[in-house]
Amino acid sequence: MTRWPLPEYMRLALAQARKAAESGEVPIGAVVVKDGEVIAAGRNAPRERHDPTSHAEMEAIRTAARILGNERLEGCELWVTLEPCAMCAGAIVHARIARLYYGASDPKGGAVEHGARVFEQEQCLHRPEVYPGIGEAESADLLRKFFRERR
Ligand SMILES: [Zn+2]
Repeated sequence: MTRWPLPEYMRLALAQARKAAESGEVPIGAVVVKDGEVIAAGRNAPRERHDPTSHAEMEAIRTAARILGNERLEGCELWVTLEPCAMCAGAIVHARIARLYYGASDPKGGAVEHGARVFEQEQCLHRPEVYPGIGEAESADLLRKFFRERR
């Protein structure tokens, strides 16, 4: 199988995931990009922040919305290392994210191609374009290593 070089945005998201691991958080990272420019980055930090909603996607979306001064991130892309959960998929809908790129699939907690399949629901108000499997191996390696070291 040909391995294409990872897009810069996914490499930045993976760097965020590594930062999360260094802080003892599950290694998941995300960045929001608009017109080729990185607007915001986020990583998992629920333990550190005592905030169950502190997922990488939520952090990146919150920061991007604050920076852009708009609760709608029209035309923005979200790059995240793992398939988003139902909460984050909901936030992606509310934020009107145009394109979602993610790394590894998450059969247990994911809600894009698994579980709730949020974007496929009839009630879903906005459907982003979805591009899975970008940096899948790198993202999965980080998660495997993290959980192995904690056992
Ligand atoms: Zn989430």
